[in-house]
Amino acid sequence: MSTLDALGRPLHDLRISVTDRCNFRCVYCMPKEVFNSQHRFLGRSELLSFEEITRLVRASAQLGVRKIRFTGGEPLVRRDLEQLIAMVAAIEGIDDMSLTTNASLLSAERARQLRDAGLERINVSLDALDDATFMAVNDVGVPVVEVLRGIDNAIAAGMRNIKVNMVVKKGLNEHAIVPMAKHFHGSGVILRFIEFMDVGNHNQWQHDSVLSASEIHRRIHRELALENIDPNYPGEVAKRWRYCDGGGEIGIIASVTQPFCGDCHRARLSAVGQLYTCLFASGGTDLRQVLRSGVSDEALLAQLRALWSARSDRYSEQRGRQPSGTQPLQFRPKVEMSYIGG
Ligand code: SAM
Ligand code: SF4
Ligand code: SF4
Repeated sequence: MSTLDALGRPLHDLRISVTDRCNFRCVYCMPKEVFNSQHRFLGRSELLSFEEITRLVRASAQLGVRKIRFTGGEPLVRRDLEQLIAMVAAIEGIDDMSLTTNASLLSAERARQLRDAGLERINVSLDALDDATFMAVNDVGVPVVEVLRGIDNAIAAGMRNIKVNMVVKKGLNEHAIVPMAKHFHGSGVILRFIEFMDVGNHNQWQHDSVLSASEIHRRIHRELALENIDPNYPGEVAKRWRYCDGGGEIGIIASVTQPFCGDCHRARLSAVGQLYTCLFASGGTDLRQVLRSGVSDEALLAQLRALWSARSDRYSEQRGRQPSGTQPLQFRPKVEMSYIGG
C-alpha cells in the first residue's frame, strides 16, 4: 500500500534535478544579474552520484513512486546522463520516465543515446517562435531553430508524446501564444501553456504579470476552436483541450489562478540530495548526508516514509487565500527553480 501524506495524498512522482547549471539565463528563472560569474554553482563532489540517485529512486519506488522526471538546471549539461537513465529504467516499479530540457543541446546523437538508455518522452521548454522574443527570454542569444532541431532529433530517435512547455508572462511573450498554437497544431506535439509562477526569489514575480489560464484559452479558442477533454489520470496538472478540427490537443497549467495542491503527488530531489515536498518550499531534507552516513536500506525507507507522512504543503492554495494585512506568502524565501527544476 502506498504511503499517504498528512492530507491523504500518495507519493507518485519524483522529479530529480541532476545539476544546478544551465546554458540559458531565462529571465524568469536564472536572471543574469544573479546567476553570473559571482554566483557559486555546485562543485562535482557536492552532486549526488548516479549510484546515490539510483538508491533513492529504488527506495521511493517502494513508497509508491512510478514516474521519474529528470530536470535541472539543464539536465543535458550533466555528463553521462544516459547512464543514469539506464540505471533508473532498470528499477522495478518505475514505469514512466521523462526529461525536461531546453533542447538546445539535443543533438541527433545525444537523442539516440538517451532513447537507447530507455528514455521515451521529453518535455521541451520553448517560450516563443520569433527569435527576438525567444532571445529576450533565454538571454544568451540562442535562436528558436536550435530548439526546433532538438525536437526533430528527439522524434527521429523514436521518442513519442513529446510536449512543449511555454511559460507565459505578460509583457514578455504573450503575443507568442497564438503563433505557438498554430505552429504545433496538427504536428502531434502537445503544447502546454504554463502560468508564470512565483518560484524562487529573483524573478520579480508580481500577480500582474500572470496571464490567466482562462485568458490563454480565450485567445487560442477565438482562432482555433477548442473543446475540453478528460484528464489522462487523476491529479494531472494540465487541463486538456483538443482542437475541434482534429488538430491534436493542448494543455494549460493554471498553477496560480486554479491551484491543484489537493492532488499533488510530487516530491523533488535537488542535485545535492535535498528532498523537497513542495515546489515553493523554503527548505528540504538533506538525504545526501543520510546516504553518506552508511544508512541501511530499511532505515532509508523508514526515513522517506516518515517525511512523506508528515507532509502538509499546499502553498498555491494558501497563496490564493491570504488574509489582507498579513506578510504575503510569496515574499518568504523559497528554493530556486534552477535548483529543483520545476
Ligand atoms: N532547463 C530545463 C528546461 O528549461 O526545460 C529544465 C529545468 S526548468 C527550471 C523546468 C521548467 O520550469 C521549464 O519548463 C521552465 O520554463 C519552467 N519555469 C522556470 N521558471 C518558471 C516560472 N517562474 N514560472 C513558471 N515556469 C517556470
Ligand atoms: Fe535554464 Fe530551464 Fe531555467 Fe531556462 S528555465 S534558465 S533553460 S533551467
Ligand atoms: Fe504541490 Fe506545492 Fe505546487 Fe501545491 S504548491 S501543487 S503542494 S508543489
